[in-house]
Amino acid sequence: MSTPVVSELAPPLRLLLGPGPSMVHPRVLRAMSTPLLGHLDPKFLEIMNEVQAQLRAVFRTENPFTIAVSGTGSAGMEAALVNLLEPGDTAVVVVAGVFGGRMADIVGRCGARLVKIDVPWGEVCDPARIEEALKREGKVKVVALVHAETSTGAHQPLEGLGALCHAHGALLVADTVTSLGGVPVEVDAWGVDACYSGTQKCLSCPPGLAPLTLSPRALEAVKARKTKVQSWYLDAGMVADYWAEGKRVYHHTAPISMVYALRESLRLVLEEGLEARFARHRRHSAALMAGVAALGFEPQAQEGHRLPSLNCIKVPAGVDEAAARKGLLADHSIEIGGGLGPLAGKVWRIGLMGESARQENVLAVLAAIEQALA
Ligand code: PLP
Repeated sequence: MSTPVVSELAPPLRLLLGPGPSMVHPRVLRAMSTPLLGHLDPKFLEIMNEVQAQLRAVFRTENPFTIAVSGTGSAGMEAALVNLLEPGDTAVVVVAGVFGGRMADIVGRCGARLVKIDVPWGEVCDPARIEEALKREGKVKVVALVHAETSTGAHQPLEGLGALCHAHGALLVADTVTSLGGVPVEVDAWGVDACYSGTQKCLSCPPGLAPLTLSPRALEAVKARKTKVQSWYLDAGMVADYWAEGKRVYHHTAPISMVYALRESLRLVLEEGLEARFARHRRHSAALMAGVAALGFEPQAQEGHRLPSLNCIKVPAGVDEAAARKGLLADHSIEIGGGLGPLAGKVWRIGLMGESARQENVLAVLAAIEQALA
């Protein structure tokens, strides 16, 4: 067998304005290149404590179980659902795009009974439909929905849903992959029992970890399981024994450099301040949306429920959208996203997440789109 000839790594410099990953601050890249520690080194355990405290601040929760799951956002999704659901349980899942669909898929793989609430792509779910399902379906264990649907740009309100679920004995699971650090997420105030995210979106860290927080109510449900969690790797009880201060029992080798990166990206988030960060996302999204409107694009998501972090716009008739996106990448080194599923070929998704949400980036992408359409 011949030895492959591979040159030194030199990826092109891109402006990442797609649905993720987003731009990463040099401080985060520097943190990743600092020396490794062992995953049970007392200094690393201190760093884990710091990351947990930072994540609680960003999730706006007091939940002791607040960790970074090893894996991308989907690992967070899977961890939330496999720990709460046992075969025979019922889960209500709102499907308003690709990621609600992914949740529904995982529910089925857990052997749970799936009750789907289908919502047109780009719209949000009326809480009355969730209440109806809770009343109709008997004992529901979990209600799951996506706060920021990356495939449509819709921003699902979560206020009041925790109380509604709890009144019916159900737990609320929320996907905040495209919202955490970019728009308000209030885990405790909204009564979210399992909330997960990903590092590569509004937290502006490379992909690789999934922040996850579980409420005491969710942990009770995990403890009360009659069957073992189907996934060994994502078993919250075992993972908690590694993250819990005072325990720190080896479960799997933590991705040390990713934890460093997350620590630094959360330092940047908290230095800026959550409110200032949310305002920055709103401001640049408003400028982008005004600019693309002038170029003939209309928003995909329902008015009043549009995400500033993920701007999903309908491509005007007659535009070869794939060729235009290719041109953006080849001629301007700018990445934006195309549509997924039924929206493939019909929309563009322009992410303004974390470090990507900057005035110069909005101006650059608007100029590039104008040129691509000319
Ligand atoms: N949920 C949402 C809303 C997402 O946007 C994504 C990824 O784009 C995921 C889950 C899955 O995350 P990952 O691709 O990091 O596994």
